[in-house]
Amino acid sequence: MTSFAQNPLDTKITYLKGVGPVRGKLLNEIGISTVRDLLQYYPRKFLDRTNIKPIKELKIGEEAVVIGRIETLGLRKTRRRNFFQITLNDGTGRLQCNWFNGISWISEKFSVNQKVTVFGKIDFYKGYTISHPEHDILDENEDPRNTGNIIAQYSSTASLKSAGLDSRGFRNIVTNALLYGGRELSDHFSQELCSEIGLISYGQAIHSIHKPKNSVSLTNAIYRLKFDELFFLQILMAKKKVFIKKEVSSSFPDIGNITRKIYEKIPFKLTDAQVRAMKEIRRDISIPQQMNRLLQGDVGCGKTVVALLSAAIIADNSAQIAVLAPTEILARQHYKTMKELADLVGLKIELILGGKKKDERLELLENIKSGKIQLLIGTHAIIQPDIEFNNLGLVIIDEQHRFGVEQRKALLDKGNHPHILAMTATPIPRTLAITYHGDMDITIIDQLPGNRQPIKTFVVNSNQQDKIYNFIKKEVNLGNQCFIVYPIIEESEKLDLKAAETEYKKLSNNIFPEFNIGFIHGKLKSEDRDLRMEAFKQNQIQILVATTVIEVGIDIPNATTMVIENADRFGLAQLHQLRGRIGRGDKRGFCILIPSKNEISERLKIMELTSDGFEIADEDLRIRGPGDFFGTKQHGYMKLKIADITKDGKIARIARQYAFQIINEDPELNSSRNTGILQKFKTEYAHMYAYLQTG
Ligand code: ADP
Ligand code: MG
Repeated sequence: MTSFAQNPLDTKITYLKGVGPVRGKLLNEIGISTVRDLLQYYPRKFLDRTNIKPIKELKIGEEAVVIGRIETLGLRKTRRRNFFQITLNDGTGRLQCNWFNGISWISEKFSVNQKVTVFGKIDFYKGYTISHPEHDILDENEDPRNTGNIIAQYSSTASLKSAGLDSRGFRNIVTNALLYGGRELSDHFSQELCSEIGLISYGQAIHSIHKPKNSVSLTNAIYRLKFDELFFLQILMAKKKVFIKKEVSSSFPDIGNITRKIYEKIPFKLTDAQVRAMKEIRRDISIPQQMNRLLQGDVGCGKTVVALLSAAIIADNSAQIAVLAPTEILARQHYKTMKELADLVGLKIELILGGKKKDERLELLENIKSGKIQLLIGTHAIIQPDIEFNNLGLVIIDEQHRFGVEQRKALLDKGNHPHILAMTATPIPRTLAITYHGDMDITIIDQLPGNRQPIKTFVVNSNQQDKIYNFIKKEVNLGNQCFIVYPIIEESEKLDLKAAETEYKKLSNNIFPEFNIGFIHGKLKSEDRDLRMEAFKQNQIQILVATTVIEVGIDIPNATTMVIENADRFGLAQLHQLRGRIGRGDKRGFCILIPSKNEISERLKIMELTSDGFEIADEDLRIRGPGDFFGTKQHGYMKLKIADITKDGKIARIARQYAFQIINEDPELNSSRNTGILQKFKTEYAHMYAYLQTG
């Protein structure tokens, strides 16, 4: 084989024996361009003796893996349609596999006497059958039942398969890759480190993941490769953290009159958790090192006042504060809440949203630039290029996961390394937090203000509608208010909106003619939405029909009841957030969840059982996986190949501990004992680092 690269692992995949230009191109499309990439294309599943079922032990309706020899094959006809069928015999019985689609393609793949493994749901029609099984053709010497081997199975695409790169095809080229470059798989960790952590060598791990000798070596290989993946993510986090710490920011050590007076005027006593958060923030901003802190606390825990007090300290030290909120409603609410106290103590506060008149805007810009405005609150309007600060000392980002990296950067660039306080009401499970926010310091407010009673939640089928209406009537007659929420899902937005609208009309005309009912949704102009929201706040409207625009941050202490229709269409974490909009005063809140089908799932039941946001988040993570968790794509660049954030928390924590220790001792990885780590970092992770630095 011609080698154009010094290290065989860097050889272009096209030149590997068994690949060639056609397959090479297809492999490139799935991100495999070198021999190294192929060796890091880990199997999706493993076939071993223990998970194979003899045909005579099959049970109808169960999923099973079967290995057999093809006895007969061919096109079959019923009156209605043609299909392709193979009959497998494994010595204990026969199994028929049927394909109704893609017949011409599939029929070319098999031949009589071949050994095949199939996977699928067992059916019965004149004998055991499987339709459209997953399948893998085995070489004669690969049968795990004879050899005790574990067979790696690779995922593939239709076009790869048609070029011969099905699972078996992958096994063949991976074998070639191991023969060709396997010896070059040097370890990036020292032997001492490996034995300290309990890791097998990298080369051994790569060999074993593709060609496991037994289940112990496979387990060790999986552990090692998961560790590696999580370790380098943590190296990224550690490097970013060190990088941030190096940034020189202004320090704000003094507490002055503004802070002192605001503190006096707060109409309640801070919770212990709020006090702890303030202490941590004060410590961070009193030194000339950039703060990068995430304030995480369940809805209603009182993050706003922490933000305001932090802002007050900055203002006491003659610098400015910017608060970035994800929606206009929230920006206005922050503005109103903070303004009440700010006005009492002479802290100059302003709000900036999208549409302002030209001359008004000019004056505002002038006052921001001169430093006359101390605290500026806004939506993304705040990051427009013409907004310049005199001395921006602190940036507060509410619901920070709603903003992209570029937006955050644009705001930060308006100051000279301003301190950063990010806030979120999304309880982020610890494993996720250390993986995705591993570069931030985290403060958790784990306490609700004292007078708050936990919300009572009920999952109720829609055939109980009358009971629900009566319940609402009773609450409203007591002087309380109610939300009725409909999910709006992007793809079918129009339809859903119509359903919500119909429902709104029905409620106001037929069900509750005696009450005032409002309707807000995302398609309303923001002024109209705010007017209606304000009317609700003033109790001029008793029942508010809403889409998810009320999702975050809205504070209506008098709202006690929330009914959520089609509740199964929301994630649990989102339901928890919605539910957090009620019970924010001292009256008890009630949340009624109505599933769209008349079917109460275990998942929804969780909402009845716990009001602990972290517990719910863990459950959500377990059920839905991390992809959906943030509801954004901002973490797409960190796709994990083998580790699973939902299950590998323990490995993640160990990896984090080692990565941070190494970066703390040797931030640039210059020392000779870290050469291997540096090398791997440079070849495989440096692009992510560049990306992270802008974040
Ligand atoms: P979130 O953390 O969800 O943003 P907020 O800051 O909006 O919560 O606070 C929720 C409500 O609790 C507000 O009405 C606020 O005035 C009130 N609150 C905050 N802290 C306390 C406290 N220590 N004692 C009593 N009420 C509080
Ligand atoms: Mg809030």
